[in-house]
Amino acid sequence: MKKILMVSSEAEPFAKVGGLGEAVSSLSAELFRQGYDIRIILPRYYSVDIAREKLKKHPFPLGVPIGAREEWTGVYEGRLPGCAVPVYFLEHEGYYGRDGIYGPRGGEGFADNVARFALLCRGAFQLCRMLGWIPDIIHSHDWPAALCNVYLKTIENRTEFSRTASVLTLHNAGYQGVYHKDAMNAIGLAWDHFYSSGFEFYNGINLLQAGIKNADMLTTVSPGYAREILTPEKGNGMDGLLRERGGYFTGILNGIDYSRWNPESDPLLPFHFSEKALDGKEKLKTRLKAEISLPAGQDIPLIGMIGRIVEQKGYGVLLSYSRGDLAAICRELGVQIVILGTGNAAYEQELARLAWKLPNLKVILQFNTQLAHLIEAGCDFFLMPSLFEPCGLNQLYSLRYGAIPIVSNTGGLADTVEDYNEQTGAGTGIVIDTITPENIYNAVKRAAALYRNDKAALRSLREQGMGKRFSWNQSAGKYLEAYEKALAARRGKTAGAL
Ligand code: ADP
Repeated sequence: MKKILMVSSEAEPFAKVGGLGEAVSSLSAELFRQGYDIRIILPRYYSVDIAREKLKKHPFPLGVPIGAREEWTGVYEGRLPGCAVPVYFLEHEGYYGRDGIYGPRGGEGFADNVARFALLCRGAFQLCRMLGWIPDIIHSHDWPAALCNVYLKTIENRTEFSRTASVLTLHNAGYQGVYHKDAMNAIGLAWDHFYSSGFEFYNGINLLQAGIKNADMLTTVSPGYAREILTPEKGNGMDGLLRERGGYFTGILNGIDYSRWNPESDPLLPFHFSEKALDGKEKLKTRLKAEISLPAGQDIPLIGMIGRIVEQKGYGVLLSYSRGDLAAICRELGVQIVILGTGNAAYEQELARLAWKLPNLKVILQFNTQLAHLIEAGCDFFLMPSLFEPCGLNQLYSLRYGAIPIVSNTGGLADTVEDYNEQTGAGTGIVIDTITPENIYNAVKRAAALYRNDKAALRSLREQGMGKRFSWNQSAGKYLEAYEKALAARRGKTAGAL
């Protein structure tokens, strides 16, 4: 049997801040369906409390050695909903017993994040020992789990994990886990590892960098983003090291779970629709407008935005007080805009202030999955002017739900949305080459013109998008290839070891 352990700070539905949590759970479910023995380990944050009664508590605590100290954790076990993938939760009141996954809402990360995630990563090895289950692959995700790749090559190099290989996936290379070098103590490795294991970063430590240096194989979440982060302009300082590891680095597009995101059966929607029967979408638009207090009865293009309200998603540009910014779009283009999200406190305040002044702008500062589904289903267009986008999920939901995506020409957005060609009618959305206020303004203007002047073209553009599929099935196969390559590298054999 092929055993794979996923180590992650997020896995939906237990803990999700963004696309990472969704990708880890969907990939795991798909690999499970394909017959792999796959398990997930997560911290037991307070947010997991909702499901706590349904979790099985293991009778013995788990001792986790970290440097000269030992931490004791409780172990809970649950299952991914809808399939039998085991999910293990490490309980530690001091480190995980608080609100927030990385930090308090709208604030900086917790001061003890290195210790919190070092416990997760060391705990992953200890848990496997306790279970008597030694995985072929440890698949770690982003900087919080990157210490697994380091521990495997250091303290666990010659233990029962000597034949285990590690894969690190970069869901967003913009977040790296950079800390003061005193945090080496919390990692529990001797000081010489500061240099030899790749932590050293401008006299501080960088967890992602150390993970990149030690992983047997590296992946990121789209081919486009993989190309971008190999360049000095977009590599966030990791490009040099990634180029060095070039033969062991690849981009694999995230999929989405089309059984959950299906406009024909979505249980979170009061009405349903399909490419061929779009009346349900009209009704959903009316329902959405009523729910967010937009006036009924006008035929105006409705544009949605969902996601973290942060610089990366284009909010710095939209709120730039310059020609073509969000205020100008709302005042001049005759569109309605609904924004659902949480994030940077200053942007949230500015959006709330604008929404108070502009009757056609609605801002909902919540994390609300049901409303997210209704927005995707009820909107005519979906705006995603990200400065960079490793993969992006919302544009994929938008395609499926007929909210024509207006996206920037970057990373996973460029890989999944094809610009509408007015001559041939080909395409699935509107692509903005460079993100500036004016370019976003012009793209929205183009969308609004299409909506007003050419309903037939609008309909065929929508249908083309709705017909696209980005499923996990195909991507899971590419992950399996990456696992094979990692194993071959670790075990010094040619492919075929799995
Ligand atoms: P990222 O991972 O960079 O945050 P993605 O587009 O890849 O962005 O994934 C974000 C995921 O989180 C999507 O599934 C999106 O619908 C969901 N999401 C983000 N913010 C909210 C919110 N405020 N309410 C509901 N869902 C949200």
